[in-house]
Amino acid sequence: MPKASKKELLQLYKDHKVQLLISKYVSGELKTLSPTFDSKHGFKYPVIDEILDDHSKTDAFLQELFEGDVLTRKLYDKIIYCPSCNSANVSVHYTCPYCGSFDIKKSALIEHIKCGYIDTEDHFQKEGKLLCPRCNRELLTPDVDYHRAGVWCNCNQCNKSFDIPVPTHFCRNCTNNFTFEDALCKDIYSYSLTPQATKEANIGYILTVPIIEFFENLGFEVESPGFMNGTSGTRHMFDLTAISAGKKKRTTAIDIATSTDDRVSEQSVISMFAKIFDTTPDKACLVAIPKMSENGRKLASLYKINLVEAKDQNAALEALKSCLKNDLSSS
Ligand SMILES: [Zn+2]
Ligand SMILES: [Zn+2]
Ligand SMILES: [Zn+2]
Repeated sequence: MPKASKKELLQLYKDHKVQLLISKYVSGELKTLSPTFDSKHGFKYPVIDEILDDHSKTDAFLQELFEGDVLTRKLYDKIIYCPSCNSANVSVHYTCPYCGSFDIKKSALIEHIKCGYIDTEDHFQKEGKLLCPRCNRELLTPDVDYHRAGVWCNCNQCNKSFDIPVPTHFCRNCTNNFTFEDALCKDIYSYSLTPQATKEANIGYILTVPIIEFFENLGFEVESPGFMNGTSGTRHMFDLTAISAGKKKRTTAIDIATSTDDRVSEQSVISMFAKIFDTTPDKACLVAIPKMSENGRKLASLYKINLVEAKDQNAALEALKSCLKNDLSSS
């Protein structure tokens, strides 16, 4: 399976529809995407249909996310299509191996343990009781008096008996009968977010996407990750760089720091400072989720790094927007 490169992945994450789907997983609204059955279309994924607004694109969308390592899949079912009309409205007929009729009767086989007599259940049933037709004793307790010894079928057409019927398919749409040999089968999967995508979604990888959009809408030229050459000759990497349109070409460098604990450590401020000291962007923003440590705050203010603290991705985006809007209007 070809793995998507980081660039391709970013491209995928940039797709608003992909973001919508991932956000459903991340928010917990969706744990596993399972199909629902519809006798007209076969299997459907209503969540995806709703996101795409076009049922015909669902398979390709899921395939792309699977190949891009965003989604992992598990075999959920195999769907059988009629080879004549392609309908998924197909039933199974258990047929007589002798004459091919599906007009067969299935019975349970019962063995009377004491005398060893075996016959179908209806032969034991008398006046609501189970009586052995051979020795006439009553069968009371399963596994003590008797046990079930499998099934036995009888064909109502040719009257022959057999234990294993032959399964065939019947198309309810065009009434075609067909066998396993002719059946069209398709694997149907359920989908989950890969551990990798879950991690990236949680550490703010996904957050870069709305930020990219925000800058692009303002006419910025955005790179993610973004590289800047330092006066030292070192090339530094930021989570994003955004260069404004027009003559001035103001550059904003953005890093995103997240912590699963309460506070982001000041280390992220220090490492960003080392980079901006060398590359001197016009503006530097550090997005801290959920909060920056007290020392980190002091350092950010000292180093003139615009600190954006937010409890989650949406709040971060809002805070970043207002932080940058002020900057844009004053410049
Ligand atoms: Zn058919
Ligand atoms: Zn038969
Ligand atoms: Zn008996």
